[in-house]
Amino acid sequence: MHRYDLLVVGSANADLVIRVDHRPAAGETVLGSDLATHPGGKGANQAVAAARLGARTALLARVGDDPYGRLLLDTQRASGVDTDAVLTDDGPTGVALITVDRSGENSIVVSPGANAQLSARDVRAAEPLLAAAKVVSVQLEIPLDTVAAAVRTAAAAGTRVVLNPSPPASLPADVLVACDPLVANEHEAKLLLRRLPDGPPGAPESWAEGLLALGPRSVVVTLGAAGALAADRTGMVRVPGVPVEAVDTTGAGDAFTGALAWRLGAGDDLEAAVRYAVRVGAAAVTRAGAQESYPTAAEVTGR
Ligand code: ATP
Repeated sequence: MHRYDLLVVGSANADLVIRVDHRPAAGETVLGSDLATHPGGKGANQAVAAARLGARTALLARVGDDPYGRLLLDTQRASGVDTDAVLTDDGPTGVALITVDRSGENSIVVSPGANAQLSARDVRAAEPLLAAAKVVSVQLEIPLDTVAAAVRTAAAAGTRVVLNPSPPASLPADVLVACDPLVANEHEAKLLLRRLPDGPPGAPESWAEGLLALGPRSVVVTLGAAGALAADRTGMVRVPGVPVEAVDTTGAGDAFTGALAWRLGAGDDLEAAVRYAVRVGAAAVTRAGAQESYPTAAEVTGR
């Protein structure tokens, strides 16, 4: 009997957002809007997405002993995420400083803070938690040896691993092989395949094939408004996007991955889980913000 549908091992950040007319050039000072503070970080986002859909979810992360850390813990708990495994550091919580200009373009500086302290030792100490989950979801906003420890510990315990290689980085072969699936957006897929972001486009199907050749058991490539591709060694399927009025795509990828991991843990096959996750991603872009935009199961199924 599994205690959790999903354990997310990952980052928790406070997103500090200022809207500006134009983003400052070197040496320039610009005036902007009032500061808005939002809970964020890929790990925290995925955990909230899954819990809001009904998954029994836990988060393994580190935050600082400061107001941002408390904000993150409060928002996780309010969404139903078990935070018993969230460790609190003396140092600062991770922060993303975000400026968004009139055209919607942003510039982001991330200070990893406590995320950089989440260690392979923390993961090994949480082994019973990794073994008690149906699925473990990992992203790359924490140290890479911590990622590797999470994947190896989960795989050794027979727990399914979902990995989003964001921000993109090289991963050891045995870590890639354990991913089921590796979930990448177009940008991440191209970088993992070492193509230039603005290089010859190629078809997404060829990226999925290329990613499969890196060794994972399965691959999902998200395609924004166009939906997603699911591939494993038995075949490939393209799931079309859901047409919606997009208001803000921030955190759509995390909503997608949290939902996908939850449905895989619930027993869906890859295609069915991707179909569900595409609907969750679409719902998330119809509202502003990241976690604030994530839907409940009733909103996704219309029941
Ligand atoms: P982000 O970085 O904005 O969080 P991402 O680049 O990681 O997202 P995307 O491929 O852009 O990931 O989006 C993830 C999923 O969200 C898509 O597969 C799709 O289901 C949904 N989605 C994103 N943008 C749109 C859109 N404009 N209309 C409908 N669905 C969308």
